[in-house]
Amino acid sequence: MKVKKTYRKIPFRIVIIYIIISLLWILLSDVLLFRFFPENMFISILKGIIYIGLSALLLLYLMKQSWSVQNDLIAKEYKDELTGLQNRSSLQKNLTEILFSKEKFHLLFIDFDRFKMINDLYGHEIGDIVLKKVSDTLRDNSHIRFSDVISRWVADEFIVILKNKSDHEVDLFVSSLLAETSVPLHIAGKEIVNHISVGSVHYPEDTTKSSELLRFAEIAAEEAKKNGGLTHIRYRKELSDKANRELYLEEGLKHSLEKQELFLNFQPQIATSTHQIIGVETLIRWVYDGKTISPAEFIPIAEKSGLIIQIGDYVLRETCKNIPCIEDTIGKSLYFSVNVSARQFYQKDYIGRTKQIIKETSISPAQIILEITESIIMEYTDFVIESLHELREFGFQIAIDDFGTGYSSFKYLELLPVNIIKIDQSFTQSIDKVRTKAIVQSIISLAHNLDMQILAEGVENLFQVASLKEMDCHFLQGYYFSKPLTLENLLQQYK
Ligand code: C2E
Ligand code: CA
Ligand code: CA
Repeated sequence: MKVKKTYRKIPFRIVIIYIIISLLWILLSDVLLFRFFPENMFISILKGIIYIGLSALLLLYLMKQSWSVQNDLIAKEYKDELTGLQNRSSLQKNLTEILFSKEKFHLLFIDFDRFKMINDLYGHEIGDIVLKKVSDTLRDNSHIRFSDVISRWVADEFIVILKNKSDHEVDLFVSSLLAETSVPLHIAGKEIVNHISVGSVHYPEDTTKSSELLRFAEIAAEEAKKNGGLTHIRYRKELSDKANRELYLEEGLKHSLEKQELFLNFQPQIATSTHQIIGVETLIRWVYDGKTISPAEFIPIAEKSGLIIQIGDYVLRETCKNIPCIEDTIGKSLYFSVNVSARQFYQKDYIGRTKQIIKETSISPAQIILEITESIIMEYTDFVIESLHELREFGFQIAIDDFGTGYSSFKYLELLPVNIIKIDQSFTQSIDKVRTKAIVQSIISLAHNLDMQILAEGVENLFQVASLKEMDCHFLQGYYFSKPLTLENLLQQYK
């Protein structure tokens, strides 16, 4: 670690101690020595030598002590205690110096893809060990030179400054880092899946301002995360515009619940054999500044900011509250599908809160279908299996949403208490292609063989309806039958 030498003062305390000891020496030597050896010239010289020697030694000792304390303080000020890397203030200082030298460099912002979940699931102690392991991997990477800078910026964010490297060399470094950090860690008998995203910015190509270098690299890292993580994105101007819009939406989203800007839409789900409504999927809508914002845009922002926890609770509670009125008007009992995002699901008290909402609203959990995506299942599989069993035992139904788009594995279909598969709309919409049709047929057969229900999403035309009926798909959902409807329109159309 590079720490600039600071001017070290001799503390006032040491000067006082030195004066006191000198006075004591003069007093003692005069009283004791001259008592036994009065008027002796040799003794006077000896006394002077001892005095100078001892005081020099004492002074050196005291100064050494004091400087080592100061060194410790300086190290503490610039070193991150957990990882031993440079800390935020050290990085800022270094960055100012590097900018002053006008040397070219790449600044890399490294962010964990799901660190919050590691903390939520396994606790902070294990989170700290993961951070330490990743910082060791960074420090030991063979592409890092002595003159480069590695620092822990804050929490699970690290910054690396690579000097005078080509874009290709930076890519090589990042590729090796992504590979090394994504090897699962085994801590306290648990396998911890972890990966990172990297955003990079170049000085002076992208900007020459230190605050912008940091911000732009962070924006690029966020973009990398949004693209699924475990990737590297180089900063470009459009990313800033996008980030500004997200900030604007995040700010609005914080007040959306209290301002009652959120509401639910309901999309009918239809039995293939009868074309009768059997259930609805609730889909959230947000009207902000007079415009309707798509959930595809604001749900990821809600997930990132943690607001999805409250929003998710709102969606479930609001769905449950509306069930009696919908069923009374339509005149039959229905299923209600609710989307559950990964961030919600990994919350330790998710199950408790979800059960609580059901109890509060006196709804039968068997009517509620929790839709989870494949990505939820693939990570932290043990935790997910346990949680899903608990939810099933309570009475909820579980659907796998967007089936076929994630990293499917037949293994989890065997292990998980899932009872509904929802074929992703991308398959439905190209069911006219021979290969897609074969895939859809296989998914439907798989569901039948596993005794699961199967629903196709995104059904837009009669050809798709006919194809899916022929393949024995139980349920259909899509614009062909109905777009998502407001509560009033749902009641109006199906009464
Ligand atoms: P999703 O869960 O896959 O929901 C289905 C999406 O497909 C909905 O978009 C729906 O309007 C749209 N859709 C339905 N039928 C058709 C069709 O025939 N053709 C086409 N092209 N699209 C169709 P929407 O409402 O914009 O929602 C987008 C995504 O946002 C949802 O995808 C879901 O992932 C998320 N989302 C929506 N509401 C919630 C919510 O309450 N909580 C969470 N966590 N996510 C939600
Ligand atoms: Ca869904
Ligand atoms: Ca879906």
